[in-house]
Order: sequence, then C-alpha cells, then structure tokens
Amino acid sequence: MRQEWHHFTYPGPEISRVAVPGNQDDDEFGLDRWRTMPRAQVPPWPDQDAVDEVGSLLSSVPPIVAPYEVDQLRERLALVADGKAFMLQGGDCAETFADNTEAHVLANARTLLQMAVVLTYGASLPVIKIGRVAGQFTKPRSAPLDSLGLPAYRGDMINSLDQDPAARVADPQRMVRAYANSSSAMNMLRAYLGGGMADLHAVHDWNKGFVVTSPAGQRYEAIAREIDRALRFMQACGVNDDEALRTVTLYCSHEALALEYERPLARIAGGKPYGLSGHFLWIGERTRQIDGAHVDFMSRIANPIGVKLGPTTTPEQAIELFEKLNPDNVPGRLTFVARMGSTKVRDVLPPIVEKVTAAGCRVVWQCDPMHGNTHESSNGYKTRHFDRIVDEVLGYFEVHRELGTHPGGLHVELTGEDVTECLGGAQAIVDEDLPGRYETACDPRLNTQQSLELAFLVAEMLRG
Ligand code: PEP
Ligand code: MN
Repeated sequence: MRQEWHHFTYPGPEISRVAVPGNQDDDEFGLDRWRTMPRAQVPPWPDQDAVDEVGSLLSSVPPIVAPYEVDQLRERLALVADGKAFMLQGGDCAETFADNTEAHVLANARTLLQMAVVLTYGASLPVIKIGRVAGQFTKPRSAPLDSLGLPAYRGDMINSLDQDPAARVADPQRMVRAYANSSSAMNMLRAYLGGGMADLHAVHDWNKGFVVTSPAGQRYEAIAREIDRALRFMQACGVNDDEALRTVTLYCSHEALALEYERPLARIAGGKPYGLSGHFLWIGERTRQIDGAHVDFMSRIANPIGVKLGPTTTPEQAIELFEKLNPDNVPGRLTFVARMGSTKVRDVLPPIVEKVTAAGCRVVWQCDPMHGNTHESSNGYKTRHFDRIVDEVLGYFEVHRELGTHPGGLHVELTGEDVTECLGGAQAIVDEDLPGRYETACDPRLNTQQSLELAFLVAEMLRG
C-alpha cells in the first residue's frame, strides 16, 4: 500500500517501535552502548531514577518525525553531496519554551524561506530547507559555571536561564516539556507550510519589501527583479498552480546533545534504528570525540547527521569520523559542518577537503560562519560581526572553487525578529545598539534584515 503526503510517497503503514534494552535482538543495535563510554557535556542530573522515569515515558510517545521523512531527507542530501542541490539550515542558537510561540516559530520559518528563494535563484539548484527548530533545546558549554558563578545554563531541556541557583539545577521533567514543545512546533509548521504560507509569490513579495526598505536594497534590486521576471515567465507558461510553488517541506534539526532524550526517541523501523526526535541531528564541536558517547550513538542511527568541525580539526580526524559515522559511504548520510572562523577557514579547510575527497568519501560540505566568529563587544555582549560572517562564507566558497568540490550549503543562527545581537549589516549595528534588543538565550543571531542580506550576498557569490 502506498500513501501520499505532500509530494512524498511512503511505503505503507509500518509502525516504528522502541528497541528494548536487555532484549537480545535489540541489543545488537547497540543503542545503549554510549552509556559505558566517556562522554563530554553530561547534564548534571541530580537524580538518575528521575531521568530513567522520563526516559521510559519518552519511549512510548509518538515520535516528532517519521522514518520515511528521514530517509527522504537523506536522499535529498545525497543530491547535495553530488553537487545537484544546496542546503540551507538555520534558526535560533537555543530555542526556549517561552519563545516557542506561533509568532516566533513562523517568523523564523518565514526568514528561512525568504533566504531560500534568493539562494534557489542564485544557485539555480533546489535548496533543501532545514530549521534549527522543534528540538534545539540543549547547549554545550565551555565552562561549568557562568560569569556570575552560577551553574551554566544548558538549554531549556536541562535547566532554566533564570539567574538563580535553584533554577540552574538540571530537571529531567524539562525533557518532557522539550518534547511537547517540539511536537507542537512541528505540528504547526507542517500545517502552515502545507497550507499556503510558503507560496513562492508571497515569499518573493516579502523579499521585494526587504529590497525597498533595506539601506542596501539597491544592490539587491537587480536580483529581485530577475526573480520577478522568472516568476512571471513561469506564470505565463501555466506552471502557476504547481503544488511545488505553493508548499514547502521544512525539515527540523537540532544538536543531539542530551542522549537521555535522544535514546528513548530512537525507534526501529524497517529493521533499522532511527533517531525520531528530528530529521537531521548533529554532533557539536565539543562532543565529537572519536571514542566518545555521542559519536557512538550517532553512528547507530540511520538519519542524515552532521558533525561540526572547528579550527583545530585535522584531516586525519575528519577521516576517522567519516569511517566511524559513514562506513558504507552513503551519500547524504554525513555532513561536515566547517566552523573555522573567518581568519582560519582558508588555511584549515583545504587540507581537510582534499584528504576526504582523495579518500573517495562522499560527504556534504556545509559552512557555519557563526561559531568561529564570536567575540565580546566593548560593552560586554557576546556578538558577531556581519563582515566576518560574510568573509568566512567567501573563504569557504574560495576553498571549494579552488579544489573543484561543491560548496553544499549554509548553517546559520538567525531569527525573524528585529533583534540587535550581531554587529554590522546594512543597518550598521554598533556596540552601543546591542542592548536595545539583545534577546538570545545563548549565541547572537542574525536578525531578519541581516539574514536576507547574507542570502543576497551568497546568491552573488554563487553566480560567481
Ligand atoms: C551551535 O551550533 O549552537 C553550537 C554550539 O555549535 P558548535 O558545536 O559548532 O560550537
Ligand atoms: Mn550557537
């Protein structure tokens, strides 16, 4: 039996099931092996029994995503690995329960779609859209205490951002809230995106609004006008009613950091384990140890996954990660997310790309121009400058152009709101502006205008 959902087809009504620890057959999947391994960034849970109780609850809830969607995304990312598509991933650094509102989630999605239209035109390739949404509730921290001496905030899934020692105690019940918030966000996104919010004409009209109001709008007017003509051409050809112009598939993603959340949301379907907390899951820069718990767990699920590669990554480490995480060389399975910093990308990335390519490894190369470019402003805010972000993307394109490899996509922290968290851009945000609307729970995000400006600049880069 085959059934339709949007433009997907899935093979019948198989129901995924939990792999039961202790059951001999299920133990073969090794989904609990991580428990015995060295693990970085362990949440300081005060009570393991309470964690286990939540785990057994999460193992019986409906998953956030379905296995066939996960397979579909992996197949689409295989196109990126082959140079036939581009991926755009973005959203909050840290989602919060308080900001999991209709307005916030839709504004972020809208900004991502606006960027995607510009990139689709610039690249003349399909753009696969992935939100940092519906699960991005945990944060790795560089120190166990924050600047006030309080236990660090580790994301709403673990503890609270409130500046109070009691609020910072890790509470496993928060995993239940994270699950509920994730499923409601995904439910709403599916409904709106399938129902016309993503209509290409509407999204393009929003972009025209940006071009009119942005101080840098003139520079982008030419591209916007070309997109306009392309749309009118399609309309004239009668492709106006095409389903593909009216609906969009937005996949969800997050860092798979809290393994006590990821493990119970893993399910067996078609004889394979899937992480059904999200479509695309990634391993962070701080948890990519080759013999560590996170790499082990992620090696066992069938999802498309990412690994962040910071400026200290060696080509040998990249190969080891590849061998452990994608031994069958499945294209679309593994994305390397370079986040080197604008001053390092041109030196550190080339030998990695060269060695991985020479070994015949099929990966997606993605650029995260955010995490290597963070600094503290003169007035004490964690910030990033738009120019450095653009420069890292530029460096990434230069490296791939030089080596003849495909610059597969972008990974950015953004919000569809008018925040003042990153410096620069056409609005010329300066240190003194930061306190105005600095609202992030963790890292500074591009605001709507900065995000669109980046998309237009990347479209220019894509067209060479
Ligand atoms: C992040 O993506 O928010 C993050 C913490 O990234 P990284 O692991 O690259 O530092
Ligand atoms: Mn971040």
